Amino acid sequence: MRGTLYLVGTPIGNLEDITYRAVRILKEADIIYCEDTRVTKKLCQHFEITAPLKAYHDHNKEVMTEQVIDSLNNGLNCALVSDAGLPLISDPGYELVIAARENEIKVESIPGPNAALTALMTSGLSSYSFLFDGFLPRKDNEKKQRLSHLMALPHTIIIYESPYRVKHTLETIKIIDEDRMVSIARELTKKFEQVETMLVTEAIKALDDTIKLKGEFVICIAPYDKQSENNWWDKLSIVDHVEHYIESGMKSKEAIKQTSVDRQMKKQDVYQAYHIQ
Ligand code: SAM
Repeated sequence: MRGTLYLVGTPIGNLEDITYRAVRILKEADIIYCEDTRVTKKLCQHFEITAPLKAYHDHNKEVMTEQVIDSLNNGLNCALVSDAGLPLISDPGYELVIAARENEIKVESIPGPNAALTALMTSGLSSYSFLFDGFLPRKDNEKKQRLSHLMALPHTIIIYESPYRVKHTLETIKIIDEDRMVSIARELTKKFEQVETMLVTEAIKALDDTIKLKGEFVICIAPYDKQSENNWWDKLSIVDHVEHYIESGMKSKEAIKQTSVDRQMKKQDVYQAYHIQ
């Protein structure tokens, strides 16, 4: 009999958020694969889980995927956890699930806490349709381009962010649309949990004051509202609209195309307005 691969959710701060089932599966597992054995050791000590821990992270996943599959093929039940929250969600595990499925090994998810959805629930922003995009690119241009694309979608956007980049990300959101509502969730489920929802311009002012740049952050961005009479480019001329996209990293041809889509104008007309300044 082959073993089962269990993908086990663990708390994102508050240890009381672990499920009975997660504790039982981890107690019964033959091996627990985790990102950082020191982090998971603390969790295991707290819940009297004694299964052996082995590291499975981004830097060893190629070698370790084979090892985990061998263990499963040899009948061992293996659990995969990340430092916090759900494995695979901005955390390692995807390649392992692919390999397990290719080997016809049973994969079971043991649901648990997740920072993105926890932030969304409290944010007061629309939860009907949302898009989780993990971490944004670090390079300024790529980040602007990614945010410009995301912020034109009719979904609440959820991103993970490091405290060192929250300010820059909010400033980039403001460049794209200064009238957008954002929600900043910090230290979810922990002692200093804070969730603030306000205009991006107000959020920038609140940083370092009411919103301390310490701990772990999730940023939710309100959906682009097509029905709204106000488009973010309403105050811009056609030329400024095109230049806005060029500054965010697009080539001029692409920027003209996007502007024509936004304004529901013919591409030629935008081209002329841009080039015959
Ligand atoms: N797999 C995890 C999950 O399911 O939420 C996410 C792992 S990702 C590597 C870590 C990021 O999640 C942090 O940088 C932060 O953006 C977010 N995060 C994790 N725990 C959090 C918390 N308690 N409060 C706010 N954000 C958190």
